Amino acid sequence: MTDGLTRTGSPRILTALALRAAELDAEDPLASYRSRFLAEPGVISYLDGNSLGRPLSATRESLGRLVEQEWSARLIRAWDERWMQTPYAVGDRIGRTLLGAAEGQTVIGDSTSVLLYKLVRAALAASGERDEIVIDTGNFPTDRFIVQGVADELGAKIHWIETDPHGGPEPEQVEAAVGSRTALVLLSHISYRSAQIADVPRITDIAHRAGALMLWDLCHSVGAVPMELDSWGVDLAVGCTYKYVNGGPGSPAFGYVNRSLHSEFQQPIWGWMGAAEPFAMGRDYAPADGIGRLLSGTPSILGMRPMQDMLDLIEEVGIAAIRDKSVRLTEFLLELHDTVLAPLGFSLASPRSSEVRGSHVSVEHPRAKELTAALWEHGVIPDFRAPRGIRLGISPLSTGFGEVYDGIAALAEVAAG
Ligand SMILES: *Cc1c(COP(=O)(O)O)cnc(C)c1O
Repeated sequence: MTDGLTRTGSPRILTALALRAAELDAEDPLASYRSRFLAEPGVISYLDGNSLGRPLSATRESLGRLVEQEWSARLIRAWDERWMQTPYAVGDRIGRTLLGAAEGQTVIGDSTSVLLYKLVRAALAASGERDEIVIDTGNFPTDRFIVQGVADELGAKIHWIETDPHGGPEPEQVEAAVGSRTALVLLSHISYRSAQIADVPRITDIAHRAGALMLWDLCHSVGAVPMELDSWGVDLAVGCTYKYVNGGPGSPAFGYVNRSLHSEFQQPIWGWMGAAEPFAMGRDYAPADGIGRLLSGTPSILGMRPMQDMLDLIEEVGIAAIRDKSVRLTEFLLELHDTVLAPLGFSLASPRSSEVRGSHVSVEHPRAKELTAALWEHGVIPDFRAPRGIRLGISPLSTGFGEVYDGIAALAEVAAG
């Protein structure tokens, strides 16, 4: 590592930063929680917890228990005994622990993409003559594609907000985009590229004053940033559970529908699990009362198991302390960027102020793709985003300061080499 860095003249700075990382780890009140996650042979620095969270050790046991004590021991009886309630119980828990949502408004359903489809369609159905959807060009691909598909299907219009790729949607832009034809505004709480945090209360209020519904995608914020959906007056929300909620690959997403909309809300995929009485096997569909009508088919009981282990841990620590550590880690990352990466031709692609920055930091470099590939070979795992972005994701409960230091030192080494 020193070879390349000697050329940048920074080995002394690096040593000082390595010592600071060790100090920050020693002072970190949440440091011990890192040992709750499974050890990963050969991984030096995992900086992609914002794409796929690490597994907890507890999950190995809890999945085994589910297979033996529920699936095998209880077989089909387990549906009546507990599984039918699981999507609601876990949804309520996510609502209470992470979303600031009272019970009965959050449920675990399909993937984020499918839930987005259902919620966008439901919002348009509830909006009478209004036929416009406002969304930003910087939103995650699936959000944009789902909206394009729905617009095509229903003959609705899309009003695009052009967002700064280093930032995110601003209230003034939303204000200028909404009007008497707007049915729905769909934005991400945290931009997946820049990590900028949107002003949810203000933007939601702007949508409401225009008579539109507001749908927030929480994929990059849930589990890392506290929120208050009920008091912010949010109508609809959706979010991933495999990122900061460590639910594992393909774990199902949650949907939130504000109670005030439950009676009029109708989603387009009428399956038996969203019906008022799934086991009545009736002739015609009648939606369940409340949030249950967001469901369609048989819920993924296996897919909901690991996230409950993470919810145990999050409840033990508290989301405020998690956010606090996330801010300290990303501040340290910024310091490393400024002192070590910037002299090597990197630039920052995330907000400087932690007030509006989530739990990852994006940097740019002309050779981002090849640098990321070189790091992956050495057990340092950030995330490449075309054309020149590298995302450095911090998952506060499983990432340490020394780990961040090691990752950035390795990145500097390959960039200088
Ligand atoms: C990760 C992510 C998704 C993923 O959607 P899936 O259906 O789970 O693949 C959607 N939106 C945003 C903003 C994301 O960050």
